[in-house]
Amino acid sequence: MPLSKPTAPFASETGDPFLLTPGPLTTSRSVKAAMLHDWGSRDANFIAINKAVLAQLCEIANGGEDYVTVPVQGSGTFAVEAMLTSLVPPKGKVLVLVNGAYGLRAKRILDIAGRKTVVHQTAEDAPPDLKKVEAILKRTPSITHVFAVHCETTSGILNPVEEIGALAAQYGKGYLIDSMSAFGAVPLDARAVRADAITASSNKCIEGVPGLGFVICRRAALEASQGNATTLVLDLHDQWSNFEKTGQYRFTPPTHVIVALHQALQEFTTEGGVPGRGGRYRNNCRILLDGMAALGFKPLLAAELQAPIIVTFHMLDDPRFDFQRFYDGLKERGFVIYPGKLTVADSFRMGCIGRLGEREMHGALDAVRELLRVMGVSAPSTQAA
Ligand SMILES: *Cc1c(COP(=O)(O)O)cnc(C)c1O
Repeated sequence: MPLSKPTAPFASETGDPFLLTPGPLTTSRSVKAAMLHDWGSRDANFIAINKAVLAQLCEIANGGEDYVTVPVQGSGTFAVEAMLTSLVPPKGKVLVLVNGAYGLRAKRILDIAGRKTVVHQTAEDAPPDLKKVEAILKRTPSITHVFAVHCETTSGILNPVEEIGALAAQYGKGYLIDSMSAFGAVPLDARAVRADAITASSNKCIEGVPGLGFVICRRAALEASQGNATTLVLDLHDQWSNFEKTGQYRFTPPTHVIVALHQALQEFTTEGGVPGRGGRYRNNCRILLDGMAALGFKPLLAAELQAPIIVTFHMLDDPRFDFQRFYDGLKERGFVIYPGKLTVADSFRMGCIGRLGEREMHGALDAVRELLRVMGVSAPSTQAA
């Protein structure tokens, strides 16, 4: 489709602050520009664009013919809820691996839907204990599915989704993954991890605008899910059947979001797919970690647990450090960060994802350095200099 070409990366062409957050994120001008049209939902061009988007999302997960992408209008949580309530049958029981807010949210969704759960919870800075996971699977044959969060955005921890998948497969369980904040940047092979479903959304590492979630489903699991759903709008089987029959959404699709996602996916391909996108984010993350360390900030996570998505930093242990002033000052200088949501530590988060590169990461670090100076907080590197 003749949409506008990608522009030079990392310019704040709109004058908006850069979003160093877990999402929504900074998008390119060309992604925003793709929305300067109105599309009928039955328009043949729109239907073709939507079809291409769904196929490419499946390809990113290396789904092949065994998998199919089912989109869900709404934010990422809509897709998580659609996945859990459509693929887990009423008599199912899910082992939910929790080490942050998104694991807890999945548990809450299952509780509301009346699905039984077993929870294995670890601290926000600790991955699941695989020995304990295996012990639970061994002693609880009634478990039908395992649910895991790929990158738990609460802390930025990377959970061992491959190892969890191997255990789920060994014990004959279905496997459901919330890869919302990692999809497109951290490799995830649906067939290799033997996932029943992987869910993500338009506005995280794919760098589209918010408004569409999607679930990449193993066809066999999706076909077996008829009648499971607890709601009409979040029924993945019904949504998928309708696409098979008509190529169309059952209810009004977010047309602008989908056309912008199509543009974002073209830019994703131009950047080199998962290795390219992930490479830029890893570089962003390294610049952030090194630069913040030089200013005296300690990350929450051990290096081997840190996903290149978002970094949690401890608050500075200095009475002159005032987080609200820090937050407001950064915003004034063009960078939005995120307060922490942790129970284990007083913290804040800075993201590495979205349309950000070296220039923006260094810009954010310059702003942090200046604010520390304004607040009279002397960082270790300044003292040493
Ligand atoms: C962002 C995110 C979600 C979805 O959040 P929404 O606000 O509904 O888009 C779900 N899981 C994880 C791990 C996330 O990072």
